Amino acid sequence: MNWILFLAIGAVFAIVSAQMARSRKRNVAFWAALGFFTGFLAIVILAVLGKAGSPDVSVASADNRPHSEFGKDSLLSVRDVSVVFGGIVALNGVSFDMKKGQILGLIGPNGAGKTTLFNCLSRLYQPSKGEILMEGRSILTRQPSQIAETGIGRTFQNVALFPRLSVRDNIRIGGHCRTSSDFVSDALKLPWVRREERELNDKVDEILSYLDLHNVADREVAGLPFGTQKRVELGRALAAEPKILLLDEPAGGLNHEEVYVLGDLVCRIRDERNITVLLVEHHMGLVMKIADHVVALNFGKKLAEGTPAAVQSDPDVIKAYLGSKDS
Ligand code: ATP
Repeated sequence: MNWILFLAIGAVFAIVSAQMARSRKRNVAFWAALGFFTGFLAIVILAVLGKAGSPDVSVASADNRPHSEFGKDSLLSVRDVSVVFGGIVALNGVSFDMKKGQILGLIGPNGAGKTTLFNCLSRLYQPSKGEILMEGRSILTRQPSQIAETGIGRTFQNVALFPRLSVRDNIRIGGHCRTSSDFVSDALKLPWVRREERELNDKVDEILSYLDLHNVADREVAGLPFGTQKRVELGRALAAEPKILLLDEPAGGLNHEEVYVLGDLVCRIRDERNITVLLVEHHMGLVMKIADHVVALNFGKKLAEGTPAAVQSDPDVIKAYLGSKDS
């Protein structure tokens, strides 16, 4: 396919040159060959310039410098964030900080605003008010398509994979945001493209082993059990090398044994891969077991924040989950 494109561009240049040579009664074969060579050279130069000119999204732009008061050990800061849908206030001035290496549990009853906050963090929603800082820089100026490049990875509550692709290819897709090739370089299979592809393949193999997915690596995702699909989604998020991993109800639909394994895996991901984790979860047993810090929401507001034990025994949290005696 790549060589067909190369030949096609060379052929177009050759035909144009040959036509011009014929009309001026010059040596047609010589000018056709020269045209072919010029076409090749032009596409290589375009590829090199494209590579050199591609923006480095990890570098802060002048209008997005780190906020000076941002804490050194903070990774993510949610500041006074509100989201309004028509007349519904889904989030109302929510603030909290996440420290590097933390597993932060975000809990709350149905409709508390957890998913809305999650969607703000992954840039699917734009807050009506407030700020979200990642390593001191606003993420609200970023496009949703750039969010993986800023170091934020996520999984979805109901699993959002490419069902007809293999497990390996689904994970590879996650790693593409860390490659820098473009259409022309890809088409010509230039040396850095081949190097990046080799590195990406190695990374995918490592993730397949890490998540114990080697046996199903070449199977289509559609036919796999739900628990396995959830691990594939986790693999896709890991392939993007996130600094912070947002897990949206990872225990949903899993049996008791799978939840136990998941808890272990999330702790290993934090400890071995140095990834900070935000866990939105209804499974209180899991949150209380693995979270270092818990934020509880109710009706879009922050209800309580602290260690799992402190939040679990907070009277407002107990009331929100169990209801008051009066109600
Ligand atoms: P659950 O645990 O059931 O997933 P949640 O804590 O994630 O609940 P959200 O889904 O964030 O809660 O919803 C918060 C509020 O915002 C709810 O009242 C919900 O109906 C409303 N809401 C969420 N998304 C939208 C939307 N796209 N349009 C209108 N209202 C919405």
